[in-house]
Amino acid sequence: MFATRTSLLAYLLLASITTTASAHSKQNIGRETLHPQNGWAASGTGVAGGSAAVAEQVYIVRNRSELIAALNNGVVSSTSPSNPSNEPKIIYVKGTIDANVDDANNPLTCTDYYQDGYTLEAFLATYDPAVWGREDEPSGELEDARLASRNAQQARVRIRIGSNTTIVGIGKGATIKGAWFDIRGTANVPNSRSNIIIRNLTFRDTYDCFPEWDPTDGDLGSWNALYDSVSLRDTSNVWIDHNTFEDRETRDSTLPQHFGVLYQVHDGLLDITNASDLVTVSWNEFRNHDKMMLIGSSDSAVADRGKLRVTLHHNLFDGIGQRAPRVRFGQVHVYNNLYDLRDTPSYNYSWGVGIESAIYAEENVFIANRNFTVDRIIARFNGTALSVSDTLVIGPRVRNPVDVLGAWNAVNDPDLGFDAGWVPTLDHELLPAWTTPILVPLLAGPQAK
Ligand code: CA
Ligand code: CA
Repeated sequence: MFATRTSLLAYLLLASITTTASAHSKQNIGRETLHPQNGWAASGTGVAGGSAAVAEQVYIVRNRSELIAALNNGVVSSTSPSNPSNEPKIIYVKGTIDANVDDANNPLTCTDYYQDGYTLEAFLATYDPAVWGREDEPSGELEDARLASRNAQQARVRIRIGSNTTIVGIGKGATIKGAWFDIRGTANVPNSRSNIIIRNLTFRDTYDCFPEWDPTDGDLGSWNALYDSVSLRDTSNVWIDHNTFEDRETRDSTLPQHFGVLYQVHDGLLDITNASDLVTVSWNEFRNHDKMMLIGSSDSAVADRGKLRVTLHHNLFDGIGQRAPRVRFGQVHVYNNLYDLRDTPSYNYSWGVGIESAIYAEENVFIANRNFTVDRIIARFNGTALSVSDTLVIGPRVRNPVDVLGAWNAVNDPDLGFDAGWVPTLDHELLPAWTTPILVPLLAGPQAK
């Protein structure tokens, strides 16, 4: 695929990067801090996470109860505390932690959460558009029972995380299954939640047993689920690095249709909203999911202006349908990411240009499928401009540097402008695009350290 000279150059680059990585791993991964030039999260106070933890605040956790106790200053609580500890702490995850379990770590299925007479069968019979119609959203006893059942699941899967926290997986197999890491500060209180590191973990199969039916959403109606694997709200200075986010057992192709549309149990993988700011998302794998990353949740959320600054670099997006990312308001640097579209049956777009968004995309690589055309990389949602340079497409019909913005403007009106209005500086790992399809498959995702 690559000429010998190119391979040699890549090898030398790889050698220099892995030398740096191994120098790091000689110290303990739990004590590592963000490099001062590594993306937006390095701005302001940077990210030290829980690296300053005293010995009593270093935990190894193997199940949901131990994880929640560690987050809550060692206090065991049957439900997720809404005020997790902000003490500097390091939490090592060992093995697989399933969030859908009871306090004795017995697995809970969707039916175990049923409350007040809810069953999926009864819900489908009652709110079938042929019976209920399409004018009004569901209401009444059975919808109330769905909400009660949803709350019962939420009490298990929603996990709050405090400031000054590092959560890292031990080895390649550390897994968080079915959970929603709900990281949030207090609205309009700057730095009420900040300084968090999440590394070397696999987030798998976050799912909502009780998605909401909205018959008025789209022509056919739609099922809307609640939980992201990780969501950031009113939170700043966060580093998300070397993780995998994926649907495996619950991937969309395994889900049924109800009322003629997909019974969607997933929301985002990593959503960054509500005036969150200064986030670096590096060397992660995102796989087999439709809506991946929402940066900014509403056009009317003007408190997001000047915030939502995010750097995405050296991530693998494999089988991602849309929102990689979708941006409102924020200055978002997207570089050296690898978009593999070969197994993406419902590819929609990658870069969503939302209101007042300022995406600066450079040195990204797309591995195309047969239906791919370059203009499909971008979708506009009330945005006006983005900066794009040095995009490479490898595929059946193209294998060249491509002009993404030119291709989009050629088939859409009005045109998008070519200047996002800012130039990134915190980019010490920026490399030529051709290195991306070599380095990202080798080094993204959890590492065996
Ligand atoms: Ca979400
Ligand atoms: Ca045009």
